[in-house]
Amino acid sequence: MALFVQKFGGTSVGSLERIEAVAELVVKTRQQGHQVVVVLSAMSGETNRLIDMARQLDTRPNSRELDVLLTTGEQVSVALLAMAIIKRGHSAISLLADQVGIQTSNHFGKAQIERIHTERLKQELEHNRIAIIAGFQGRDNEGNITTLGRGGTDTTAVELAAALKADECQIFTDVDGVYTTDPRIDSNARRLAYVTCAEMLALASLGAKVLHLRSVEAAGRHKVPLRVLSSFSPDAGTLITYEENSRLQSTVSGIAASRDEVQVSVLSSTENTPKLRLIEALCTEHNIEIDMITQTQQHSEKIGYAFTVHSNDHLQVIEILQSNLGYIRAHHVESNMGVAKVSAVGLGIKSNCGVTEQFFSALAQEGIKTLMDASSEIKVSVLVEEKYLELAVRTLHATFFSESTE
Ligand code: ADP
Ligand code: ASP
Ligand code: MG
Repeated sequence: MALFVQKFGGTSVGSLERIEAVAELVVKTRQQGHQVVVVLSAMSGETNRLIDMARQLDTRPNSRELDVLLTTGEQVSVALLAMAIIKRGHSAISLLADQVGIQTSNHFGKAQIERIHTERLKQELEHNRIAIIAGFQGRDNEGNITTLGRGGTDTTAVELAAALKADECQIFTDVDGVYTTDPRIDSNARRLAYVTCAEMLALASLGAKVLHLRSVEAAGRHKVPLRVLSSFSPDAGTLITYEENSRLQSTVSGIAASRDEVQVSVLSSTENTPKLRLIEALCTEHNIEIDMITQTQQHSEKIGYAFTVHSNDHLQVIEILQSNLGYIRAHHVESNMGVAKVSAVGLGIKSNCGVTEQFFSALAQEGIKTLMDASSEIKVSVLVEEKYLELAVRTLHATFFSESTE
């Protein structure tokens, strides 16, 4: 008898028909003699609907109350799935994060799981009940409801699998595994049977939303056996491996893209360059992460810095910089939301200096102008105008995953 944590995302539970299909899948695992803990997202579209409602009331809604609102989505899906399983004659119980005892930090909207109490869950399993847990939520040490950030149900699942020492954490989604790039952008994308945890970390951090970044971090920390597979046609999917030096590594393992970027420019007159150190300190103080950064000569007479931040931080960063113009020695701040980041990821990049050259020349041949770039041992990233995102992804995928590279 094995213990599986099975997570189903929004599309997988997007309708009553889908909830019935998930109930069948879970019951099948149970009938094979295994224990199951299920973790669910809200039905697809629900979290967006709730956010839209909150924003109609206030463009920047109170963060504590927004978390109270958003967690209702998962409360609906877990109750419906429990009903569907009970109807099939199996014992099931839905539990909210607070009822399980999922303790988090107090950062509303981006809380981190600090501890999971497993007593209640173990009791349910001992009584042969299928426990159905609301993903994406927790409770801070003052009893407030928190959320883990968009896509956070993956993280609930992996952390639960670690706490329960599950035999496998299975992330069921709407694609049948991790691909060489988003299969919705490039139909030539290929499913990877295996991906190393380090590569998956890089892919997730650079925009491959198939796994929430924190879930991959948690998997790596606890060495959780982790698999991504389809809830529509379950098969072997993709297994995340921890053999960092294995032969599984290829030069480039994937192409990732992210639209969640904003380019911010802090400009001044030539004789008075803004103080980068102070800009960085202000961002750190407000928990805002700067990603790419470069010195610019934006308009002929203005010198300054351009950097990128996550679009969630856009309004806040502009507000902070604008109210500190004198302090950072700048004259004005501009932002550009029409940008996207496209990256090639691979553990083999560090040992193959040809990759960077191939990367840039492929984009240049297609006439795609790069606005900024950044590279590390395992990735090369560029910022491009958003309209070029798809073309850039397909161009890079063709460059690194053409038939001849197989
Ligand atoms: P869920 O609702 O199940 O959590 P998500 O939408 O968060 O699903 O993640 C699955 C989506 O991730 C896929 O539909 C696909 O468009 C996208 N995706 C992005 N990059 C990749 C990749 N490299 N491999 C597979 N899917 C990817
Ligand atoms: N429902 C949340 C979201 O849409 C969490 C998740 O699906 O993982 O982001
Ligand atoms: Mg997701």
